Amino acid sequence: MENTNINTDQWLTNNKHYVEQREAGTASGISSSMHTVVITCMDCRIMIESALGLKPGQAFVIRNAGNIVTDDVVRSLTLAVQTAGIQEVMVIGHTDCAVGKLDEPAFKTELQQQYPEGVKHDLTPTCFHAFSDVLENVRKQVQTLKSHPYFKNLSSIRGFVYDIRTGKISDINE
Ligand SMILES: [Zn+2]
Repeated sequence: MENTNINTDQWLTNNKHYVEQREAGTASGISSSMHTVVITCMDCRIMIESALGLKPGQAFVIRNAGNIVTDDVVRSLTLAVQTAGIQEVMVIGHTDCAVGKLDEPAFKTELQQQYPEGVKHDLTPTCFHAFSDVLENVRKQVQTLKSHPYFKNLSSIRGFVYDIRTGKISDINE
């Protein structure tokens, strides 16, 4: 395993510069006026903080493959709502999403062949949430959130799609 962490080492070197350049007091607290949770895809082409102009302390960002409202997303959002007074949620899907192109049955078969012992593990996923339509997927995640009793008092739960080419974020209802 030696000398295999070339990327990780580079990121840690970058972090040293980041710490040196960071202004004193940055991100020391959570903003009292901007209570938002952003749920988006883990896709590495999306720099969501930059795309929304977010500064430290302004929004909680929850990411996973396909911006799916899984039980773990509900867990994190519940904590954000109950402990930090979150009022607004943005679900942001994106064009060219890999989960939108995934052949889930084939992928599962492949995994099973490669790691037959995987089925025994408690944390082996049973569903990868593949979808075929980005808009439809975002709409579904928004509906899932809106139907949850924990989130019924939130002031806003809205869905968006981020264009990978232009960086533009569009409301799914417009
Ligand atoms: Zn994606």
